[in-house]
Amino acid sequence: MSNERLVYLDNNATTRVAPEVVEAMLPCLTKHWGNPSSAYDLATEPARMIEAARGQVAKLIGADPRHVVFTSCGTESNNTAIQSALHCQPAKRHIITSAVEHSANIKLCRLLEKRGYETTFLPVDLDGGIDLCELQAAIRPDTAIVSLMWANNETGVLFPVEELAAVCRSHGVLFHTDAVQAAGKLPIDVQQLGVDFLSLSAHKLRAPKGIGLLYVKPGSPFQPYIIGGGQERGQRGGTENVANIVAFGKAAELALGHIDDENTRVRALRDRLERSILQAIPGSVRNGGGEPRLPNTSNIGFDGVEAEAILLLLDREGICASSGSACTTGSIEPSHVLEAMSVPLSRSKGSLRFSLGQDNTEADVNRVLDKLPAIVSRLRDASPEPLGQAEAHLPNAD
Ligand SMILES: *Cc1c(COP(=O)(O)O)cnc(C)c1O
Repeated sequence: MSNERLVYLDNNATTRVAPEVVEAMLPCLTKHWGNPSSAYDLATEPARMIEAARGQVAKLIGADPRHVVFTSCGTESNNTAIQSALHCQPAKRHIITSAVEHSANIKLCRLLEKRGYETTFLPVDLDGGIDLCELQAAIRPDTAIVSLMWANNETGVLFPVEELAAVCRSHGVLFHTDAVQAAGKLPIDVQQLGVDFLSLSAHKLRAPKGIGLLYVKPGSPFQPYIIGGGQERGQRGGTENVANIVAFGKAAELALGHIDDENTRVRALRDRLERSILQAIPGSVRNGGGEPRLPNTSNIGFDGVEAEAILLLLDREGICASSGSACTTGSIEPSHVLEAMSVPLSRSKGSLRFSLGQDNTEADVNRVLDKLPAIVSRLRDASPEPLGQAEAHLPNAD
């Protein structure tokens, strides 16, 4: 096992930094370490590199570079869009988001509720899809912003962002999309999407953690979230993380070149992995609709087994997967995404997410298919509870 390479199938949690990205960012840490806002020559190159990177990330989303604001992460970008909309429209105190968003949205909205704002968490159907009519019906005269993700990080299920944005536009309501998981997997064109705000995070794209962006449509009201110096044209205070910004730029350039591969080779790997698991393991069910879905993600429930136990045994075989959103792993709470899809507790507790990426090969899929069936049946044999009876013994979900 130890001389076999790691099979990393958790690319929706984070990705390995691409060697080209490391190479691109190194000069910012060694030679070009000046503060890009300074007046002397040492600042010239860092400032130039930031603008080059802004051009690269703008190209990935079809934006004008002037409308890209670098942030510290996807979480900050989501927080910024929502807080900005509330600040700029003080009379509007209602937010619409969905029940399956990243915790960046869910927890922020819960906090805002404590401060007197109201939130509608739009429901999803059994496949994880959203109903445009539900959005129509939820919009109120005092709705400040609608924030809906493009691609779900746990299931890969896609929301029809272009249509959702159009509904908001027709009601004159600001629209933000968390496109963190879509980047590099789907073509993105902010003009065509018609969104006011769009969030990305670099570490899901083979760049380091701690750098993200927010696209702000020209003319949409905007209030900076981090108040400080005049960086980012006054839209985000704080000395720029030059190395990470440069890394993000390089990763965006690489990602643009890999979208086809994600949708052909990686998609075929994912499909074979999913199909073979469902065939080989009784009591296994895919969570979420088959399409439209990210090409790299598969979420599968195994009845009567604990996901954490499977993960532990997979880890011993050098295989990394996830039991859902990394942000909630470690707590015993079932996935809020699967809960919103009405997945029964007995299955959601035994659900694994496999998220593939650029580095994966046929051999990786083979290794999972070689190990997983035996792991699941071993755990089922060891379980005191007969298949399907697990639910009766569990404490209340709340
Ligand atoms: C990872 C992720 C985020 C958070 O991005 P960070 O840069 O880690 O803060 C937000 N939304 C989705 C859908 C994600 O997958």
